[in-house]
Amino acid sequence: MDLFYRSTRSKGEAVSASQAILKGLADDGGLFVPETVPRLDKSLEELSQMTYQETAYEVMKLFLTDFTETELKDCINKAYDSKFDSEVIAPLVEADGAYYLELFHGATIAFKDMALSILPHLLITSAKKNQVKNDIVILTATSGDTGKAALAGFAGVAGTKIIVFYPKNGVSPIQEKQMVTQKGDNTFVVGITGNFDDAQTGVKQLFGDKELAGVMDKAGFQFSSANSINIGRLVPQVVYYVYSYAQLLKEGKVEKDEQINVVVPTGNFGNILAAYFAKNMGIPIAKLICASNENKVLYDFFETGVYDRNREFVLTSSPSMDILISSNLERLIYLTAGADADKNAAFMKSLSETGKYEITEDMKANMKDFYGNYASEQETAATIKSLYEQTGYVLDTHTAVAAAVCKKYVKETGDNHKTVIASTASPFKFTRSVMNAIDPKYDAMGDFALVDELSKIANVKVPRAIEEIRTAPVIHDTICDKEDMKSVVMKFLRI
Ligand SMILES: *Cc1c(COP(=O)(O)O)cnc(C)c1O
Repeated sequence: MDLFYRSTRSKGEAVSASQAILKGLADDGGLFVPETVPRLDKSLEELSQMTYQETAYEVMKLFLTDFTETELKDCINKAYDSKFDSEVIAPLVEADGAYYLELFHGATIAFKDMALSILPHLLITSAKKNQVKNDIVILTATSGDTGKAALAGFAGVAGTKIIVFYPKNGVSPIQEKQMVTQKGDNTFVVGITGNFDDAQTGVKQLFGDKELAGVMDKAGFQFSSANSINIGRLVPQVVYYVYSYAQLLKEGKVEKDEQINVVVPTGNFGNILAAYFAKNMGIPIAKLICASNENKVLYDFFETGVYDRNREFVLTSSPSMDILISSNLERLIYLTAGADADKNAAFMKSLSETGKYEITEDMKANMKDFYGNYASEQETAATIKSLYEQTGYVLDTHTAVAAAVCKKYVKETGDNHKTVIASTASPFKFTRSVMNAIDPKYDAMGDFALVDELSKIANVKVPRAIEEIRTAPVIHDTICDKEDMKSVVMKFLRI
């Protein structure tokens, strides 16, 4: 049966999966949601015998119903290959009684690779299916991590080009080095003299530039975006929750139908929403534990039913979670309001006008599967240190927020379900914060010396992603003013 997608903000026309992937955002500014969350049509026993790629097919075929079997398997096989440094793609590691689901074995050693390695293939397949003849040009503004993951995903993919703008003095030296050494003649990286907001605003202007769109169309190009609200990023994230449960079953760590809890370090709410979809597909998940850092908008929301972004923005050691508007939460709001687009649209209007909204008691009751809490900077660092001292296992700062919240939850409730913690980045991506948490003496060391020291104390090989940038030549050295972004794009496209 075909599954269609609707906007969270109006009862407009339903679109196919491939159309939703191509459009990214609905015309009314809403997010696409499937009309129903499909149930798995294979048993958990059957799934437990499958590889990651086979599991990906079983999950994604139910969401992307207008893709043929060949198309979807082709996308999956191109995405989940030797770019990952683990054959099982997303290994589970047991430490101190919890199961860490390592989502950082891809090209840029963070969980965004799980979706961004397949999105380019889903996008060009969607373009073909909808008779789009133009090449797709991905335009992204980045504050660091997403830019590199998108570059790595799109590099060398025929029929696509990618242009990434980053604030020249607003990313870490390692992040910059990762981007400017990116190979692939369809990639283009530009530092702008301005901050992240300037880059973001410039990109939005280019997306809205009708004249530019006309010139590009004549030359055989059209823009698209790779941001985290695209369902082509959400659906691939459901896979690893299904896969991790099936692995626990296979290894005899859970009994048939035994429920587990899942803890997710959360920013934009995409990753934990994928876990919610996995639960609704039939995976026995009891609680979905939403872990925040000191930007604890979501914790306050689950406590009070009031979403309020009016507060100070805190820079933390888990920067990928430093977010005050979690865009994917809109999908949960819509679903728990009974798929009522008008009601959701009113909340979103209030959010954009006043920075806050309050959900109803009924909706709160519909969110009882979720639990929210947060970890302070101190608690996060203490968690890294104590887990390392007890077990030798080293967490990154984002995963440590989740581990700290997990401890708080168990202490508060006594709930003793087995727990899967989403491990969203390699500690090698945030080496300085991680090493300082273990011992402040490390702060005196240089970046790459710290990398080697981490490798030694954790007994883990330095990941290829880090090894490569030590010696890789700089390929991209364009710097421009924010006013010149358009001419830079036109020059790159030779139009
Ligand atoms: C993006 C990111 C997160 C947050 O994920 P969301 O889907 O935005 O909630 C957490 N940890 C790391 C390392 C990330 O890169």
